[in-house]
Amino acid sequence: MPTDLNALVRDEALLDLALSGADVAPMLMVLVHLGGEESWLDEVSPFITGPWNFHENAPEELKQRMRARLKAILLDYAASNRPLPTEPPPHLLRRMLGAGVAAEIPDEYMPMIIEETMLDDRDPKTVHWRTGPKNLDAFKAVIIGAGVSGLGMAIKMQEAGIPFVIYEKNHTVGGTWLENGYPGCGVDTPNHFYSLSFEPNHDWPEHFSKRNELWTYLERLADKYDIRRHIRFNTEVTSAIYHEADALWDLTTRDRDGTTATSRVNVVISAVGQLNRPSIPDIKGMNDFAGPLFHTARWDASQDLKGKRVAMIGTGASGMQVGPTIAPDVEHLTIFQRSAHWAVSNPNYHAAVSPGKMAALKHIPFYAKWYRFQLMWASSDGLHASLHVDPNWATPDQSLNAANQKFRDDITAYIKTQIGDRPDLLDMVVPPYPPYGKRMLRDNHWYKSLTRDNVTLTNDPIDHITPDGVVTRDGTEHKADIIVMATGFVAQKMLWPMEVRGRDGQSIRDLWGDDNPRAFLGITVPNFPNMFLLYGPGTNLAHGGSAIYHSECQIRYIMQCLREMLETGARSMEVRQDPHDAFNELLDQTHAKMVWAHRGVGNWYKNKDGRVVTNSPFCLIDYRRMTEHMDRNDYILA
Ligand code: NAP
Repeated sequence: MPTDLNALVRDEALLDLALSGADVAPMLMVLVHLGGEESWLDEVSPFITGPWNFHENAPEELKQRMRARLKAILLDYAASNRPLPTEPPPHLLRRMLGAGVAAEIPDEYMPMIIEETMLDDRDPKTVHWRTGPKNLDAFKAVIIGAGVSGLGMAIKMQEAGIPFVIYEKNHTVGGTWLENGYPGCGVDTPNHFYSLSFEPNHDWPEHFSKRNELWTYLERLADKYDIRRHIRFNTEVTSAIYHEADALWDLTTRDRDGTTATSRVNVVISAVGQLNRPSIPDIKGMNDFAGPLFHTARWDASQDLKGKRVAMIGTGASGMQVGPTIAPDVEHLTIFQRSAHWAVSNPNYHAAVSPGKMAALKHIPFYAKWYRFQLMWASSDGLHASLHVDPNWATPDQSLNAANQKFRDDITAYIKTQIGDRPDLLDMVVPPYPPYGKRMLRDNHWYKSLTRDNVTLTNDPIDHITPDGVVTRDGTEHKADIIVMATGFVAQKMLWPMEVRGRDGQSIRDLWGDDNPRAFLGITVPNFPNMFLLYGPGTNLAHGGSAIYHSECQIRYIMQCLREMLETGARSMEVRQDPHDAFNELLDQTHAKMVWAHRGVGNWYKNKDGRVVTNSPFCLIDYRRMTEHMDRNDYILA
């Protein structure tokens, strides 16, 4: 166990600090797990009403007794030198889990929970050799991108001894968490769940940490696993062309100086993600703007915003983080909203992790694991059922069903508490479409900041840009010194701007067009042998979960594909058309009933024909099940 119990009990102040900072639910689970005293579940569970720590209202006296009992148990373990237990027996585990999040845990979730918590510290998702690889020395794989998915893939390939190179267009690792350096940038998924399951981090300073901490986490990963030696930094893959006769991919790369190089590899794994290339709208006159104009993902940190008039276009996840962060500094912030987004409040969103809680995460055995489970449960499949259309629902334009309507009512009531007596604002910020039609955002003091004297929200469409500002269709010129484009990413034109050609010179662009990508499980594409995608088509999570969770499902699957190739000596592995088509039909059918396909909403999930191309419509457990075992019958191995 990484927890050094002896060190903990020798330092009583640290032990007390950890116990004082422990949340009730994970502390209860540890108490029962280590002590085996089930009666605590009966006593404490009535005070736990949901999966977040703010869903707990245990009296202080009860908490004190829990802490005292847990302290005694820990001291006893240390004194007797007994080994810590491993997994609790199944009946107890189910009771503990259920009590920890105030829910019945269906059987089908148990494998996912066991994998995510890694109670014995071993990663059950690791793919082991069966007979061993053939010709490993002659094998070369390329991973494109050293963001979180690329690094996760690299770590698993390195563990298996599979040779690989990573091409990374930036000077260092981090991907999205490197590139997005805009003020207020941070994660919307609770951080102690938003991390690789086999690399939990107990040092997150906030429950939802900011970009620097996330980027630093990825930098640390690269160092810890010694991945940098495999990475060619400042090197962008410009084309990948499949050479059928040799079953090899010809890659062309370009470095920062513009020097190009070619290489031949067996396998290409894309880890470029969906949200990497900024989308910059073509607005009349924008090239004439006299001041700086930049995208959130290309933030110009050399610009001092103090005392400046800033125009911000876009109110999605990035805009909602930038706006309230810069509003106190700028002279005036004018926000151009094309359509409103829903945003929920979470009491932990701006909360620091207390020193006591950090100590509990680091030092109390199993605490961090049960805490991860709690957060995973809080943010995974719970809402999925409520995002389906009820065909008999009376007000289908504004909500889908009773649960979705309640969500709408609750968020609207919350917004009212934030904007106070501003009916003009209320009309602008409450979206007409159902909650979750666009990506659900977290209120980053957004609504409150709109009430500031120096902030103007306008939903009048932009007509053009002048050297001095932005002119809306009503003729008003909104003067600005700086324009910020919080306008999102080219999400649907996946793999762009790379030129990718598979069998018979087939271009992925011709196959997918600009906005209609499809892949089997989001991972493999017929006619593109030996190519695997991480965070590919149909895998973005919009109902809950963590993108890292999905990546880990894909990494396991790809590792099984590589094992199959390397153990059988197959030179090529290509998904069959039938499973690919069947999967995509299921994907489309499932999406059709879900909120993001709603006709009243525009989002970056749907292409111009209304097909949802970026998202997964599946529950996390369903996608896990689909990707858990690669079925070689789905593939042509040659
Ligand atoms: P986004 O959600 O696509 O938002 C883009 C915004 O720009 C929208 O308000 C959009 O309006 C507006 N817009 C686009 N083109 C426009 C135009 N021509 N004129 C006026 N307005 C225009 O992009 P994002 O905010 O960068 O977020 C993208 C995704 O990145 C998120 O959904 C999320 O998955 C991820 N992200 C996550 C976090 C986080 O975890 N905290 C932070 C940032 C980003 P419409 O809504 O009308 O299209």
